[in-house]
Amino acid sequence: MRMWMVDPRILCNRHLLGEHVELHMFVGTINHNISLTGYGRNGLVEVHNIKSRHEELVKEMKMRGMNHKSPLPSFREFQFGKVNKSKNIKELSKRCKDCKIRIKKA
Ligand SMILES: [Zn+2]
Ligand SMILES: [Zn+2]
Repeated sequence: MRMWMVDPRILCNRHLLGEHVELHMFVGTINHNISLTGYGRNGLVEVHNIKSRHEELVKEMKMRGMNHKSPLPSFREFQFGKVNKSKNIKELSKRCKDCKIRIKKA
């Protein structure tokens, strides 16, 4: 699970949907009281931004004609974690040719 936290427009459909699903999984993890320490240490999560990030990704999904049916469940929000956006842009362009094309166009 990871939050990319980059401009949603540069994410390919697969990575857009992937991050969206993983936000729901992070909420599930929090609601089961499972620790996110490892994710925080590795810069994969910003708990305090899950809700706003979810809104941002759903907006982009709708723009692309994708469905969004299940609302994000409520969860305990707390200040935790920091994601490095510019590092993630490099990471995405390295591991995904579709994201790479979008990054170049942006
Ligand atoms: Zn959702
Ligand atoms: Zn991608």
